[in-house]
Amino acid sequence: MKPKLVLHVCCAPDEAYVVHTLNADHELACFFCNPNISPFEEYAIRLKEARKVADHYGVFFAADDYLPELWEKSIAGVAGSSEGGERCRRCFSLRMRRTAAFCQANGWPSFTTVMSISPHKSIALLNECGIAAARESGVRYEPFDFKKKDGFLNSTILSKQLGLYRQDYCGCRLSRDERDHRGKNRKI
Ligand code: SF4
Repeated sequence: MKPKLVLHVCCAPDEAYVVHTLNADHELACFFCNPNISPFEEYAIRLKEARKVADHYGVFFAADDYLPELWEKSIAGVAGSSEGGERCRRCFSLRMRRTAAFCQANGWPSFTTVMSISPHKSIALLNECGIAAARESGVRYEPFDFKKKDGFLNSTILSKQLGLYRQDYCGCRLSRDERDHRGKNRKI
């Protein structure tokens, strides 16, 4: 029997590469949980694309409710910190905790996040948040690092082949402002 694994999904390009990589050896479920994404129109596009990837590979897909007020509450007092700092730690933590709770509620024993594919995200921070969230819900966090073996490059190639939308900011309103300041040329 294949090991069961929930993938916390932030966007379709990262999801596609990870599903493509793990699907043969795992029973996968994709869980789209991103109360950080702003504005809602951007959230809706990323959700639609993520669902499209799961359908393409024949993988179970579920989406959390869109709860931006929860994300705002989670970063209260640290909104001024830069990308990669305390606000991102809290953002990771919120999404991991909700994913762990999804696993616990639906009988999935373990989860990971496709976010580790991004060269802009700290694997140490992701692992710390994932492990803590898993412990709280009595499930397991699998510390994959999908950026290994040219994961990021391969995800850009695969997402082009599949014709997927690729965002140019991480997701929250703050990262969008930062994108606007530095110019719209960084691929996430
Ligand atoms: S930059 Fe990305 S990880 Fe950090 S708070 Fe914003 S959406 Fe979350």
